[in-house]
Amino acid sequence: MPPEAKLPVARELAPITEDPAGLLLGEAFQHLRCNRLLRWGLRRWLIPTYAAALIAPAWFNPSLLLAVLAGAIASYFLLALAYVCWYGWFVNRNRNYKPLCPRCTSRMWQLCCDRCREPVPPLALWLRGMFLSHCPYCGLHLSCRDETLLAWCSTCSRTQPRPDQLYFKPTHVVVWIRTSLPHTPAGEWERISKNYKHGAAFYHVGDKHSASIMYIRDDYKSPDAPVAAHLKNQTRLLLVSSNIPDIHRDFIRGHFGPGTICETVSDVNEDSISI
Ligand SMILES: [Zn+2]
Ligand SMILES: [Zn+2]
Repeated sequence: MPPEAKLPVARELAPITEDPAGLLLGEAFQHLRCNRLLRWGLRRWLIPTYAAALIAPAWFNPSLLLAVLAGAIASYFLLALAYVCWYGWFVNRNRNYKPLCPRCTSRMWQLCCDRCREPVPPLALWLRGMFLSHCPYCGLHLSCRDETLLAWCSTCSRTQPRPDQLYFKPTHVVVWIRTSLPHTPAGEWERISKNYKHGAAFYHVGDKHSASIMYIRDDYKSPDAPVAAHLKNQTRLLLVSSNIPDIHRDFIRGHFGPGTICETVSDVNEDSISI
C-alpha cells in the first residue's frame, strides 16, 4: 500500500498540492465587473443615456471631456493593476503559509458564498471587500466577520469560516505516534476523519498565528510513512510516545526532513490530547 493510501481522505480524493497561479489582467477586469455598481453602470440600455449626457460637454469643451474620459479609463486600468499586484502578494503568502483543507488536505486559497455556495472571486477579500461586497450570483452581502464569505476547497467543497484569518497564517501538520489511539479529544480539536483502523485525524483552527492538522497513529511498526507524501515537508512536529521502541522511532523519524521537530512524549492520559 503506498503511503498516500494510508489516510482515508487521500484514498477518496486526490488533493491539490500545487501553488495557486497568479491573476491575468483580463481576469482582473472580469472580477471587477462583478462589482454591483459597475455591472449596473455598464448595462447596454444606459449607453444612450451616457451619450446624451456627454453631448453638451463635447460641444462646449471637447478637450476637457477627453481628459475626463482618459482619466476614468486610466483609473480603471490602475485599479485592475493594483488588484493583480495584491493577488500576487496573496499567492506568495499562500506559497509560504500553505493553508490546507482539513478534510482532504488540498491547498486552499479560494472563496465561496455561504448562501449559494458559488465560488467568489478573491476581489471579495481585497481591501475588506471594498470592490466586491455582494455575491455575484445571489446578491448576499459578503463578510468574513459575519461568515457569509467562506474559505472554500475546490477539491472536496469543504468550507471554513474566516478566510481572512485562515489564508494569512500557516497550517502546520502534527503527527503523534502512539501505542493506542485516544478516544475523546480534549480541547478544541475537531475530528476530521471517521475512525479508521490505525489512526485518527483532528483539526484545530488555532489562533492568529497558525492552524493545525494532527494525525495520531498507532501502527508504529508499519513501514509506510504516517502521513501522505505531500504532508511530510509540512509536518512541523513529530511526537513519539516514550513506550515505542527506539528502533521504530528512528525509522519513523527517517520519513521526515530536518524541518520536522521530533519529541518523545509520554501517554499519560489515553483519553485526551494534551499537546
Ligand atoms: Zn451567493
Ligand atoms: Zn478539501
